[in-house]
Amino acid sequence: MAVSNSDLVAGWKEVLTLCNLRVGEQVTILTSDDSHPQVVATCQIACSQMGAILTLLALAPMNGEKALSRDKSGFVGKTALETNRVALAALKSSDLIIDTMMLLFSPEQEQILKTGARMLLAVEPPEILLRLLPTRADKLRALAATACLKQARRMTVVSDAGTDFHCELGEYPVLTQHGFSDLPGKWDHWPSCFVATWPNEKTSQGRIVMDTGDIILPFKRYLRSPVTLTIEEGYIRRIDGGYDAEFMREFIDSFNDPQAYAMAHVGWGLMTRAHWTTLGLYDKEATIGMDARAFAGNFLFSSGPNTEAGGLRDTPCHLDIPLRNCSLSLDGVAMTQRGKVMADDQR
Ligand code: FE
Repeated sequence: MAVSNSDLVAGWKEVLTLCNLRVGEQVTILTSDDSHPQVVATCQIACSQMGAILTLLALAPMNGEKALSRDKSGFVGKTALETNRVALAALKSSDLIIDTMMLLFSPEQEQILKTGARMLLAVEPPEILLRLLPTRADKLRALAATACLKQARRMTVVSDAGTDFHCELGEYPVLTQHGFSDLPGKWDHWPSCFVATWPNEKTSQGRIVMDTGDIILPFKRYLRSPVTLTIEEGYIRRIDGGYDAEFMREFIDSFNDPQAYAMAHVGWGLMTRAHWTTLGLYDKEATIGMDARAFAGNFLFSSGPNTEAGGLRDTPCHLDIPLRNCSLSLDGVAMTQRGKVMADDQR
């Protein structure tokens, strides 16, 4: 269902207020050919009404000829900023950047954040943005989970479907997403609410069973039969199962990059207004699947790059895989049980 411009302007104002946008701040809206026109237009209106000094920066799309789909998360890393020092300079001198093209995983994004700029990614369609409008309560839940994750040294995940996975933690920072960027150097994504970190190198070990009904992104499909991943020393060594396993293997192999098989971020979803079912109701190109990534109680793990965490693995192949019905523990303390968030301050 479409949403009105006035509702979306009001939504932007709420989000920009949560981002601590102040009168006179330099806001840059980063756009590309496939930015959502209503999202960009309403953001412009909200920024001007709130007294920001606005710049629109349009960059050419990249990687279209290399990626196997149009999904913005389906081929990551290199962006148009790599060779565009004018655009990079503009972004580095911005106070707040609204990214409607998706710079995620690029080294340039890290450089921009180091200047203290706040960055907010917004690429989902308007009605998903409005349904998953962030709140201060989302931030509190995410911070409660972050506090647990920051001091944890070991994550274990089990499920009735057969998952029995563990990894050591502490080498990489914690990624906290709550849907708005309120602090200098903070990157966030509207809509979102989850926490994650990256396993210590070579410590991911065990078996992850993706059950019937679980989702693989960016395939945007619900599995029709289970797929079993065997993980040794930080890498996915085997992918067993039927058609879905074969599809996953073929996709990863198409990048011809052994680093594509590395385990990347691991964490759990905290967005109470996101739904496992949403993805099944949308055309594949209409969403990047943030409901799936963020629904409360999922075990969200991924494969491929760790550049976001300051690591050196910059493979363009990145899968995000949210599993239902898992029990995730940190140093023996349950964060989720059978897909339900346990702690009161995370619910
Ligand atoms: Fe990811």
